[in-house]
Amino acid sequence: MNRKPLASNAFYILPLGSIRPTGWLRDQLLIQTNGLGGHLDETWPDVGPNSGWLGGTGESWERGPYFLDGLVPLAYQLDDARLKAKAQKFIDWTLEHQAANGMIGPRSNDDWWPRMVMLKALAQYEEATGDPRVIPVLSRYFSYQLENLPRRPLRDWGKFRWQDNALVAIWLYNRTGDAKLIELVRLLHSQGHDWQKQYADFKFTAPVTPEAIKLNDAGGLGGGGLGDLALSTHGVNNGQALKAAPVWSLVTNSDEDRRGFGLMLAALDKYHGLPNGMFSCDEHFAGRNPSQGSELCTVVETMFSLEESLAVLGDAAIGDRLEKLAFNALPGTFTDDMWAHQYNQESNQVEVSLHRKPWTTDGPESNLFGLEPNFGCCTANFHQGWPKFTASLWMASSDDGLVAAAYSPCEVRTRVRGTAVTVAEETEYPFRGTVRIRVNPATESAFPLRLRIPEWAEGAVLNVNGQAEEAPVKGTFAKIERKWKRGDVVELKMPLRPRVSRGFNDSVSIERGSLVFSFPIGEDWVKLRDRGMTADWQVFPSSQWNYALAVDEQAIDVREATVGKVPFALKDAPVKLELEARKLPSWRAVDGVADPVPQSPVSSEEPKERIALAPYAAAKLRITAFPEVKA
Ligand SMILES: [Zn+2]
Repeated sequence: MNRKPLASNAFYILPLGSIRPTGWLRDQLLIQTNGLGGHLDETWPDVGPNSGWLGGTGESWERGPYFLDGLVPLAYQLDDARLKAKAQKFIDWTLEHQAANGMIGPRSNDDWWPRMVMLKALAQYEEATGDPRVIPVLSRYFSYQLENLPRRPLRDWGKFRWQDNALVAIWLYNRTGDAKLIELVRLLHSQGHDWQKQYADFKFTAPVTPEAIKLNDAGGLGGGGLGDLALSTHGVNNGQALKAAPVWSLVTNSDEDRRGFGLMLAALDKYHGLPNGMFSCDEHFAGRNPSQGSELCTVVETMFSLEESLAVLGDAAIGDRLEKLAFNALPGTFTDDMWAHQYNQESNQVEVSLHRKPWTTDGPESNLFGLEPNFGCCTANFHQGWPKFTASLWMASSDDGLVAAAYSPCEVRTRVRGTAVTVAEETEYPFRGTVRIRVNPATESAFPLRLRIPEWAEGAVLNVNGQAEEAPVKGTFAKIERKWKRGDVVELKMPLRPRVSRGFNDSVSIERGSLVFSFPIGEDWVKLRDRGMTADWQVFPSSQWNYALAVDEQAIDVREATVGKVPFALKDAPVKLELEARKLPSWRAVDGVADPVPQSPVSSEEPKERIALAPYAAAKLRITAFPEVKA
């Protein structure tokens, strides 16, 4: 519960460790653990033993904290002693080396930004462990910040990411009630970039160019990428900023601030939205052409913003978007074993190579799968994606009940109205539409349980112990009020009908539930170079891809198969869709980049074919936005 005078959240994220992954989600977190997620420090010096965040002389900026921000939740959700020990070294160094004035982190820089990330890691660690050192360290640091911000104000990254700092100040205020923390949040807001103003009159409606944002003008507004124009149009900044208005609304209790989230997301979708649920950012705004890229940091930061915004606002549509990113854009940008990732992924990605690419500002390696393609930020930052999603599956409601905010197999251990309650969620969602929830209170206990009904889940059916509840309404949270007893079972059946969405140039994309589907292009993987324990890869197409779809939702066949140990693998994909298509020979690629999807409808004299689409994330070379062929 938020402490007065803060406004109430609709929902509250449960303390880290309350939710444990099971089923396919546990398999996915184990893949992360057995891949780069659990080994990065062994092969990448930037978070290795010489890290500045371990007292060394190595990287001393954002990379250590980024790694921790995902390693801490991963370690505690899996209760993995090896991962906990890795995280503990960084945590202990930070807690034990606070300066007398309250400053934390490496002495070699005093940048506010990397410390904002470490604050998030420390708060999660405190929730999981109750380590009594954390709250005093945070209190002293925030006092230092309040005293020093007036003479050393936020600049560049920190100025554009102030809301992440504010989020942890609010977290601490809820624990200590120190009114100075609200003062600090107000100061951060006043020094930070005014995101709501940017979106009240949104000017960046076209793909940006380096010239337009003065990227290379060291003395000008671009400031070598650190000027206001460059930072305003930077993908990661905007992904993080989606939570700015909701976070600020806790201080103001203003509906206008609460509406800021929806206005921002709508503008991003309208001008830069892509069929995978992301906005283009390679690494600045790049328009709606599905050959443009999205940076992995932006994917995971947008997910975190959606999780926090869903908690504050309680809007079911935010959960829909969160799942769309978690089940498509997130896994789609990793190799199956999570030993390699891309900096930029494309919805229409016909080649992964060193060929010239259409990026607004990124370099030629940006869509390779590798250790640190283009730049190492994503290498350090991706770890938070799956664990924070796991931590957000269930929330507490402000009326002291439970909320199924997003769906995946998991177990919850928490207290509701003073009673210990465990919840076991059994499901193969998003590959299947049925979610079974076993509610086990220690003693009979009355509380509301809410379930998110996605906007696409027309005709969903809700049962408790086999008895039908009132038909749930799509796009809302269905609420069940009852006295819960051990063994109660809630079952939600969501119909997963294939459906068509439209995008750039009236192109069509096929979705089913929260999965987006793509045509999987034949893949020819070619190792570019070894990189310690991993490697960098190019992927070349070994089949044609230039199909136009004949769209008839009724004529799409669904083929389901067992969900395997690698849930998003292409081989034995858990679900495929078959539908009619025709080749469109005039649609070509130049230098490994698909031409912008042609304006629909198109005509084709080529013969009809039935093609199979796979989950977006399974197809590492893919077409997701297709031209529609005339019947
Ligand atoms: Zn990045």
